[in-house]
Amino acid sequence: MNKPAPHCSFCGIDQSPTTPLIAGADGYICEACVRLANQVVTSWGRKRSLSDLHGPLPTPSMMKARLDEYVIGQDLAKEVLSVAVYNHYKRLKHESNHNVIGEVSDSVEIGKSNVLMLGPSGTGKTLLASTLARIVGVPFAIADATTLTQAGYVGDDVESILVRLLDVAEGNVSRAEWGIVYIDEIDKTARASESSTIVRDVSGEGVQQALLKLIEGTQVKLPQKGRKREGGEEIMMDTRNILFIAGGAFPALEEHVSKRVKPNRRDIGFHSPMEEDTKLTPTQLLAETQPSDLRRFGLIPEFIGRLPVLCVLEELDESSLVRILTEPRNALTKQYGKLFQYEGVELEFTEDALRAIARKALERGTGARGLRSIMENVLRRCMFELPSREEATRCVVDEAVIEGTSDVQVFDGDNAPNAPDEPEAVKANG
Ligand code: ADP
Repeated sequence: MNKPAPHCSFCGIDQSPTTPLIAGADGYICEACVRLANQVVTSWGRKRSLSDLHGPLPTPSMMKARLDEYVIGQDLAKEVLSVAVYNHYKRLKHESNHNVIGEVSDSVEIGKSNVLMLGPSGTGKTLLASTLARIVGVPFAIADATTLTQAGYVGDDVESILVRLLDVAEGNVSRAEWGIVYIDEIDKTARASESSTIVRDVSGEGVQQALLKLIEGTQVKLPQKGRKREGGEEIMMDTRNILFIAGGAFPALEEHVSKRVKPNRRDIGFHSPMEEDTKLTPTQLLAETQPSDLRRFGLIPEFIGRLPVLCVLEELDESSLVRILTEPRNALTKQYGKLFQYEGVELEFTEDALRAIARKALERGTGARGLRSIMENVLRRCMFELPSREEATRCVVDEAVIEGTSDVQVFDGDNAPNAPDEPEAVKANG
């Protein structure tokens, strides 16, 4: 019996040397149909992510559990943010379900829960905001407050943030209108002193004023130079439902807090409470921050009022930095491990090496941000040489390498199993 030649079950094209087919349980598919199907499925994905917003929203505890996969520590901040983000999208979901024109609402209007994050540089503020946006499945844009200026002056207008958000949302205005914007370095927009009445402050207070409108919720006509719709029609964007998260290191804010928390601590006497003073760490003091402290720091009251949820991030210590190096889904040791794996080499770090990297990052005072450049420096030589050393199968980084007193140990296939003085190591690509 002659079996018919296999053909694509979708378009019917016969199998040939130039048209290979992929076999399924009951049929075949050709490359062209696979590509077409991919396009169709991708467009479903886009539609689905829009309707996701109307679908089930992860609970705050689910959000926190997801955050735990990417962000080490910062439990309080994770909790505060999960609740704020959950409430924001719950409100939006509810409102959009009852959005019948002319319907008289039950008169309780829930305010927006925009967030202000306080915490030293490199402690995970941006990471938390971007990870949350990914969890909820909404577009996310980052703006740097220091590059913004009041409209009409040199620098980016605040509207540029929305253009960016719209870009991330692939031009879909209604998706962008439900997005999350993270404004970094917001502390840099504080005026120098509460009473200063110096010349117009276009990049400081002026930016706060301009952002205020955006955060409050307004209709923004996106600038001409921005994206235009096909018909040349301008784009109006409503910022009412965008969740704004602002963050900054707020250096020395704790001094304002400590003045308020203990106003009369200048007492004299043997039982002077100075000792007690020193017990409160800057993070503990920051946790006590009230809007009045932020005002003294130089934020304008209306602006503070629009960011009602305060959340404080802790300084990262040595053990947190070691965990950051090894535990998150895309931890640095895992990333470099993968890179080495591509060369067929196993990369290992000793515990001491990890701690030494963490100590170096602490010295730099840039939180976890310093980790990558330290790793890059440590591994550069090795990454330069490895591609031309085919026999290498394993690299071990110990404390001496981090201290700069020795090179990364490279083992060949032959001596790998019983290398001399083999240190106890953490596998990076295991
Ligand atoms: P900032 O607080 O200044 O916004 P980022 O969130 O940008 O800091 O952190 C810089 C980098 O440091 C992140 O990309 C991430 O790799 C790492 N990082 C910082 N904090 C954490 C953390 N708590 N857990 C995991 N990684 C972190």
